[in-house]
Amino acid sequence: MAISKVNGLGLLEAALSYAANGWPVIPLHDCAWGRCSCTRNCSSPGKHPRTRQGHKDATTDENIIQQWWERWPNANIGLRTGAESGIVVLDVDPDHGGEKSLENLVKCFGGLSETIMANTGGGGSHYFFQHPGSYTRNSQGRLGKGLDIRGDGGYIVAAPSRHQSGCIYQFDNPDIKLSALPEWLLSLLLSDGKAKPPENSSLILSGCRNAELTSLAGRLRRQGAGYAEILQELIQKNDFSCQQPLTRCELKKITASIMNYPIQLLLFRWRDCWRSEEGPDCSGVRHVLWALSGYMDTRTGVCFPTQDQLSRDTRFTRKTIRKYLDEAERLGWIRRERVSTRQGSWNYRYFASFPDE
Ligand SMILES: [Zn+2]
Repeated sequence: MAISKVNGLGLLEAALSYAANGWPVIPLHDCAWGRCSCTRNCSSPGKHPRTRQGHKDATTDENIIQQWWERWPNANIGLRTGAESGIVVLDVDPDHGGEKSLENLVKCFGGLSETIMANTGGGGSHYFFQHPGSYTRNSQGRLGKGLDIRGDGGYIVAAPSRHQSGCIYQFDNPDIKLSALPEWLLSLLLSDGKAKPPENSSLILSGCRNAELTSLAGRLRRQGAGYAEILQELIQKNDFSCQQPLTRCELKKITASIMNYPIQLLLFRWRDCWRSEEGPDCSGVRHVLWALSGYMDTRTGVCFPTQDQLSRDTRFTRKTIRKYLDEAERLGWIRRERVSTRQGSWNYRYFASFPDE
């Protein structure tokens, strides 16, 4: 594949390589010192077409390409996506949460097959896939925040164009073959915004989301959060990271169920956990956790014994206690909050917690 050498080429040569590969190109404006060559107050510096009809002018004709880059030697390269080139590109923009959105999709649906990938000069990524043969429309943010699809009627800025940041677009792994769109991604694209998950996996979709939000709610609950606080966090997480967010009503239901879940049972699991094989290896830490557990309020999962009390219970010195408490917190078995006492000194409030969370 001709594009394996594109990274080392000049703009004209690269444009010709794409064309030789059957990928139509257009000249785009370019950036020098971060400013767009269009000299207007530009909203997409170095990314919009030089030619009048934009992506419709894209061609694989060598002569036209030669003329374009003779006229504008620094022109960035616009690469036509869609049926004309046979490619669809997933554009991941980390500045708008694209990496997080992609991570969530992958967690729910499955991974991305290894395929051609380019780094945009602005810190983002372009994943190239074979066009599926059916109409694939462009979309912005429909898959999640910071995730765009460039398909039919679209184009991308391609290597070795220069980004506004001054950095160059580059292929990450040009020797990899262009792979097909993963089934799940194709299904999401074909669902036209209604987010119909792939066949047989609708349970994974909602199950995955529910489980994740419930686990978050449980964690907050153990840390002493109240109803409003938990609901607020769930709304944020839901809106930010879910491709098809749950309704407010469903979020309230999750929050209510966690509020009703007896802390007693959570504490029981906590004690059970740190005493088990997964618990801390250090017997000192276990001993301090044991002393702490005696003070834990089974309604709230919180306690605030003084260090003197813990010292008396464990027969450790206060210094040793502090060492093991630090270690327990580092391992994730407790969370601590410093609180001032009436006498002007301070003490800790302890919350039971779980290392994997
Ligand atoms: Zn411009």
